Amino acid sequence: MLRITGKGVSGGVAMGQLYFVRRERRGAEERRAADPEVELARVKEAKRAALSQLNELYRKALPEVGQQGAALFEIHQMMLEDEDYCDSIDNIIKAQGVNAEYAVAVTSANFSRMFSEMEDNPYMRERAADVKDVSDRLIRCLAGEKSEGVKADSPVIVAADDLTPSETVQLDKSKILAFVTSGGSTNSHTAILARTMGIPAIVGAGVSLDPSLDGRSAVVDSFAGELWVDPDWVTLERLTVKKAEDDHRKELLEQFRGKPNVTKDGRGVLIYANIGSLSELGLVQHFDAGGIGLFRTEFLYLESSRYPTEDELFRSFRTVAETMGGKTVVFRTLDVGADKQIGYFELAHEENPALGLRGIRICLERPGLFRTQMRALYRASAFGKVAVMFPMIASLFEVEEALALASSVRDELRTEGAAFDEKVELGIMIETPAAAIISDVLAPRVDFFSIGTNDLTQYTLAVDRQNLSVERYCDTHHEAVLRLIRTVTENAHAHGKWVGICGELGADVTLTETFLRMGVDELSVSPVKVLELRRAVSELDLGS
Ligand code: PEP
Ligand code: MG
Repeated sequence: MLRITGKGVSGGVAMGQLYFVRRERRGAEERRAADPEVELARVKEAKRAALSQLNELYRKALPEVGQQGAALFEIHQMMLEDEDYCDSIDNIIKAQGVNAEYAVAVTSANFSRMFSEMEDNPYMRERAADVKDVSDRLIRCLAGEKSEGVKADSPVIVAADDLTPSETVQLDKSKILAFVTSGGSTNSHTAILARTMGIPAIVGAGVSLDPSLDGRSAVVDSFAGELWVDPDWVTLERLTVKKAEDDHRKELLEQFRGKPNVTKDGRGVLIYANIGSLSELGLVQHFDAGGIGLFRTEFLYLESSRYPTEDELFRSFRTVAETMGGKTVVFRTLDVGADKQIGYFELAHEENPALGLRGIRICLERPGLFRTQMRALYRASAFGKVAVMFPMIASLFEVEEALALASSVRDELRTEGAAFDEKVELGIMIETPAAAIISDVLAPRVDFFSIGTNDLTQYTLAVDRQNLSVERYCDTHHEAVLRLIRTVTENAHAHGKWVGICGELGADVTLTETFLRMGVDELSVSPVKVLELRRAVSELDLGS
């Protein structure tokens, strides 16, 4: 028996044979081109074929993973049409007089190296895989081959060094029991797609995942991030029970799709989802969240190598608002600083970044940046039910300054005749003990509170949320935090305002009863937790 560990990115247990994805090596060796013009024409033709394949993939993916999951193939199309990328290929052919395949391979290596070296930007690092994926497709098209994807005749555990997003989506779902890859990361598109498709997946299994294991029987326990090859009967029995429990749990959860979030005694609560990028919108719909309680807008900045323009932000916000139809979307204004650093922001080095220039403080220090974001948010409000909240509030003056800016943005848009919703709700996150303690003072000024328990716990218990060595001191059920949540809820309600929890604690079903008894109105959790939370709510009887 062999145990290989990695990171489980999509929960589940699966048993079956290991099937290693083999890729035909396609020649991209350097050759002298008899006529560079011919090579340029070949690139043009291959690009056309690749674009049409991507278009086809997009249509195939749409019903399976939804608009946002499928959007990846639009991104690949854009990469193929990117001017820098295309110029690089053409220039290599012209300057070096080489074959098209080689020019694409060199361009792919250069661009993916550039992306993977973006140390401060995990999102861009992950785009390195996309460039390779697109370039491989182009090389296949140059060779006149059709993309094969991964072939598996019967249900198998698919193993690979890494799976490209297009390989993942091309797989016949009925044949795939699980994915295990040597590389990969939690936020790669492949991991997102695996989650969206509900297939257990482990990434980062490393070199132990050797192709010589092909055909061996195995069990994937992605809850534990473990792959067991040739499991002994004790392990097999243990995991069979775990799988049965998980299957049963999922079956039961399915019943909650489309159901209301009400307790036995009829008390309702809103269950919304937390997301950080447009690509996660599919999950929100898949898991049937009633809205988005936290959209972490900083991702749009992390995805970029420069400040996004107002129009770019607007387009993204509008997509989210439109996709959610009339359901509420709470956008949180930029929350960078501390652990979320963005190179082009050029933030100064700080001794204590968690206590430094972060969250709303950056927006107040850089009103231009704040205004651009607020204008884009207000403009997007004409396309759905938009709410906006400000992170890391500690004092009343911060709320007043933020609201003043929001008001001047409304004036500006009115003067310009731009369409927007005058009634966009403006709220604040309660993430500092100070904000919780003065929540009676803050409540009259805003429309709602959303409690960010991740930071609230960090600041209340003085425990760095990034530091594993102090995890023992981070009691997420600490009475101090619970008392603050109670205070905030009471103060919100005393002023007729609603209150939600959008930190990780909101998904802790052992606290659901406590939160509902406190009167919390909304719980915003990771999309995959929505149905579980709905079940927990429906099993409660508050006796009211
Ligand atoms: C929080 O602090 O609880 C929160 C939701 O914000 P973030 O985790 O993005 O800091
Ligand atoms: Mg926070």
